[in-house]
Amino acid sequence: MSDFRMETKCVQSGYEPGNGEARVLPIYQSTTFRYTSSEQMGRLFDLEEAGYFYTRLQNPTNDAVAAKICDLEGGAAAMLTSSGQAANFYAIMNIVEAGDHIVCASAIYGGTYNLYAHTIRKMGVEATFVDPDCTPEELEAAFQENTKAVFGETIANPALVVLDLEKFAAAAHAHGVPLIVDNTFATPINCRPIEWGADIVTHSTTKYMDGHATCVGGAIVDSGNFDWEAHGEKFPGLTTPDETYHGIVYTQKFGKGAYITKATAQLMRDLGSIQSPQNAFLLNLGLETLHLRMPRHCENAWKVASYLKGHEKVAWVSFPSLEGDPYYALAQKYMPGGSCGVLTFGLKGGRDAAVAMMDKLKLVAIVTHVADARSCVLHPASHTHRQMNDKELLEAGVQPDLIRFSVGIENVEDIIADVEQALL
Ligand SMILES: *Cc1c(COP(=O)(O)O)cnc(C)c1O
Repeated sequence: MSDFRMETKCVQSGYEPGNGEARVLPIYQSTTFRYTSSEQMGRLFDLEEAGYFYTRLQNPTNDAVAAKICDLEGGAAAMLTSSGQAANFYAIMNIVEAGDHIVCASAIYGGTYNLYAHTIRKMGVEATFVDPDCTPEELEAAFQENTKAVFGETIANPALVVLDLEKFAAAAHAHGVPLIVDNTFATPINCRPIEWGADIVTHSTTKYMDGHATCVGGAIVDSGNFDWEAHGEKFPGLTTPDETYHGIVYTQKFGKGAYITKATAQLMRDLGSIQSPQNAFLLNLGLETLHLRMPRHCENAWKVASYLKGHEKVAWVSFPSLEGDPYYALAQKYMPGGSCGVLTFGLKGGRDAAVAMMDKLKLVAIVTHVADARSCVLHPASHTHRQMNDKELLEAGVQPDLIRFSVGIENVEDIIADVEQALL
């Protein structure tokens, strides 16, 4: 489907039925697959032959949806995971070992911050967090001998910092390591990080891709562009024999598919964070309208942001596509067609006024979610980021009075009217 435009890919990529087959992607609700030859099954286990044998490793429904996301991002190979957390965990663990180090933008999703600052640390992997707005020299200073990857979010949740993708890609590549970008908020409709130098793209498909708040899920897309063999000493897991598969070398056997094959064959085999085929089916329905929903999310959010900016009780508004925003220039560069449907703001009355205003909303709900069809709000300091102290909050770009507003695709006049009555 690679020659088609984004709208066509959203609807049709990943699944091409043969003559007389189901027009709609079938749900392969089966843990296992039948073979008539024991020898062939053995070849599958040795990765000598491609094929399905157990859904923890691969499933045709999941593979079709992963192929669609791969095509949307312009990648070479992709896989689904059970959640965005699993995607960001696997994306790193696939190329690091105890004793290794990663460089990470400090403005990222709270769950990912915990994962990289605390959980992988217990496994012996250290992260250095850098201000995404740092100078190239400051970024340079974060690297160590044992650095294996650089990570950031295209648009940080909830700080709404737009990552300077070219700056981060240049630093990563100068050190012979890949740039991994979580593209959850922008989606490939608004930004395709691979075109700006990212090597691996991750997603919490739970957000806009599903779009209807029905399924937790994740995805990893590999561009196929990073030359693992050129930096083989850093990535022995990809470039030296895997004894658990009779000594195959992933880069030699799978080329541009090496990274995803290893993540499937080792991490999914051993850790098992698969997406259910049922959820993958629902995710696919969401993807079919992603190109229609994203522009509406962006337009509604822009109107709500403009309204809030003019309101006397509002202290500040952050929305990268709004002129005057500190990230306006980066947003115009990397996502000129729109950023996302999420904005943040604070009230002059501070933290208490924020909580009081949220309680008065009727159409807009308080939920721990973001980026779905229904408008919702959240107060990160009391909810998603409550495990962080004030210093960590500020480093993650989260002010204590910050309200995260995920603008849905309802009629924007109704959304604004609800905000207006809550601000009275
Ligand atoms: C929600 C989110 C995640 C975590 O994804 P889950 O699907 O909830 O596990 C990771 N990154 C970003 C940017 C997110 O918004």
